[in-house]
Amino acid sequence: MRERQVAERLKYLRYQEGWKWWVIAASDEFSPIPIGTLSNIMTTGRVPKKWWGRLGIEHHAPPRIAISKTDADKAVRSIMGNIDDSVIQEIAEGLYLLDDGFGNVYERYCPECGHERQIVRPGKIQCVSCEEINAT
Ligand SMILES: [Zn+2]
Repeated sequence: MRERQVAERLKYLRYQEGWKWWVIAASDEFSPIPIGTLSNIMTTGRVPKKWWGRLGIEHHAPPRIAISKTDADKAVRSIMGNIDDSVIQEIAEGLYLLDDGFGNVYERYCPECGHERQIVRPGKIQCVSCEEINAT
């Protein structure tokens, strides 16, 4: 199972089958994952690592890359041979997603203004830029 497949499955249950979130959350397939987390998984396509075991998501071994300081071509070949979708996804996750450490994942950049957002507390994220605009 891949993270994306979990998101697709949730989308299917929610919109094709029309299950309510609480029904999905109570199902054998997804219990005891919280509703908010399930909703986030569907939206972001990312599953918090703490639930990987529960959902049968495979762990990928970190890539082994040999960087030669004297042979740039060799270094490039090593990187190219080792980088795969899961690595690219992990890099993208670091760049574009924010994880609050409590099972919630957010887009790092504000969809309104593109400014980087900050986690205020678990479950709450805000865009400093938009908050300032709203305050004035
Ligand atoms: Zn903003």
